[in-house]
Amino acid sequence: MNQKTDIKSMPTEQLAEQLKALGIPAFRAKQIRSWLDHGVTSFEDMRNLPLALREQLAERYTIPSVKIERKLISAIDGTVKYLFSLADGETVESVLMKFHHGWSQCISTQVGCRMGCTFCATGQGGLVRNLLPSEILAQIEEAQRDHGVRVSSVVLMGMGEPLDNFDHVMRFLEMVNEEGGVQIGMRHISLSTCGLVDRMEELMERRLQLTLSVSLHAPNDELRRRLMPIARKWSVDELLDTCRRYAECTGRRISFEYAMVDGVTDTDACAKELAQKLKGMLCHVNLIPVNPVDGTPYRRSCADRLQSFVKILERAGITATVRRTLGADINASCGQLRRKEQQNNA
Ligand code: SAH
Ligand code: SF4
Repeated sequence: MNQKTDIKSMPTEQLAEQLKALGIPAFRAKQIRSWLDHGVTSFEDMRNLPLALREQLAERYTIPSVKIERKLISAIDGTVKYLFSLADGETVESVLMKFHHGWSQCISTQVGCRMGCTFCATGQGGLVRNLLPSEILAQIEEAQRDHGVRVSSVVLMGMGEPLDNFDHVMRFLEMVNEEGGVQIGMRHISLSTCGLVDRMEELMERRLQLTLSVSLHAPNDELRRRLMPIARKWSVDELLDTCRRYAECTGRRISFEYAMVDGVTDTDACAKELAQKLKGMLCHVNLIPVNPVDGTPYRRSCADRLQSFVKILERAGITATVRRTLGADINASCGQLRRKEQQNNA
């Protein structure tokens, strides 16, 4: 099959070089980039290019985009959940949330995920494929266009493990910052990882000013291994050692995600062990009451447990907050809508 190249993910200079080899002047690359930045999804619509060039481009290149398959709006807080379809028919989820400082969007980086965390809806079906840089970006462009808002911050916390799609995510991070595009600054971006230590080391070398969120979920190996297969590859101590160096090296505070699972991760003993492990680190703990997923035995902790856990951490000098539940009526946590659609279609 004739594999076409994703034109949108390509740096403009690289496109200019490819065009030059085809005998097309370099300034065309800038014109094309400008159309792409304006969200044009077909070469036909690039009206200042000669027809022959538009046809030539369409033979060689594709402009990946996303299409709205489903859109749910929460009656409680206005949270919007999208199910987007991609060119090959695969689907990913994305959530748009309104905060006092503006709109924040949670986006996906892979179709599925191969990390297999036992509490996660996305993890249940394995990895289907990586998203292209342009497909990651298109989720923001399409949500902005559709909902008529400007997205001011982005979290890479939807479907997939961002560091398992490292190169595409790094290119996305360049694109999201670029002038003329959606232009969201690094300080308004959070990347969440289940803790791929080798990739975190690589990320550290780039000294990016984004916020790194680490899904810790347990204070020791025994418990973490029950929840997350990746914990068999790297111990909690190895992971935290990398986190400590990451914070020192980038000067950025690490944000730890900690799923509060009734009777499993939410005990006072867990809180004390966690406090002891995180002592002295530039960090913040985000407690997430676990979202029950069909087919998993986990239930969320009650409010008292959450408060007690926060208190223990704070007494040890570690700041902690409980993640606000948004879009509770539309199942806003990622992975669940796609799964339901698949079950309905089965
Ligand atoms: N793969 C990355 C990012 C996507 S998951 C990661 O694991 O960090 C985003 C966050 O949602 C992670 O902290 C993940 O552990 C959490 N999560 C997944 N399923 C959940 C559930 N059922 N309830 C609460 N949090 C969940
Ligand atoms: Fe993948 Fe994150 Fe889900 Fe784990 S929690 S299976 S890493 S998406």
